[in-house]
Amino acid sequence: MNIYNETKFIMQKYDVHPNKNLGQNFLFDEVALQTIIQDLTSEDTVLEIGPGLGTLTQMMAEKAKKVIAVEVDQNMVEILEDRFKLYDNVEIIHKDVLKLDIDKIAPNCKVIANLPYYITTPIVTALLKTNIQDITILIQKEVADRLCAKPGEKDAGAITYFVNYYADASIKGIVSKECFIPNPKVESAIVNLKKLDRPRVEVKDEELLFKLINENFTKRRKTIMNSLSNSVEKEKLAEILKELDISEQARGENLTLEQFAKIADRI
Ligand code: SAM
Repeated sequence: MNIYNETKFIMQKYDVHPNKNLGQNFLFDEVALQTIIQDLTSEDTVLEIGPGLGTLTQMMAEKAKKVIAVEVDQNMVEILEDRFKLYDNVEIIHKDVLKLDIDKIAPNCKVIANLPYYITTPIVTALLKTNIQDITILIQKEVADRLCAKPGEKDAGAITYFVNYYADASIKGIVSKECFIPNPKVESAIVNLKKLDRPRVEVKDEELLFKLINENFTKRRKTIMNSLSNSVEKEKLAEILKELDISEQARGENLTLEQFAKIADRI
């Protein structure tokens, strides 16, 4: 049976009605699925976020040492427990992944997931702060472009700087809407994030660095002098910018991660 027919069969067998609010779009395209798991080896333990009906879970269970699959939907958990009852390398956890201590539950593992789109930013932010080194996720193409942009580029947003601080990000493939049941509204992309051994720039206070970047991108059309006015007094900021040879008229969206770090260190 091909994966499309298998997905339809499972949905019929268990009377599944995809829950939009939980981002349930089931991937059945063989090429996309193989691209997502291409770097997986028999040595790897994988944390899968949102296994859904278990298509990716099954392919990973055949290839990896162990799969730890975290699913929030009770209906999916029942299907998964049935489907994987004979597998001794699949562990299913019924929980909201955002409430999980990932380093405790899955230390030294890779993350692979067809993510529910509504949690992309919080989960990427949380994952980059864990000990996980390798993350492969299928997400909205537009968000993928933002994660993989370089600071200063047109697609960059606050999350670009955050990703760039912790990891190297690259797009591994584009997945069209027709590859899912039901079809999502937008195109998707497979993104790999490889954690750096240490953050890309040195900064005394990480929290302050990201506070400044976030503040800047909520007022991205303003000059740096105006966009940071809540965090730094104008006179002080003018002094810092002069010292760093950055124009007061510059827009924060054109600043590098290193320049933001230098500003943060001087506040
Ligand atoms: N992995 C399956 C696939 O590739 O076809 C399903 C992917 S579907 C895009 C996202 C899955 O994440 C759904 O099964 C959904 O129930 C689950 N999910 C949504 N929010 C979640 C959360 N906060 N924690 C864990 N799983 C979640």
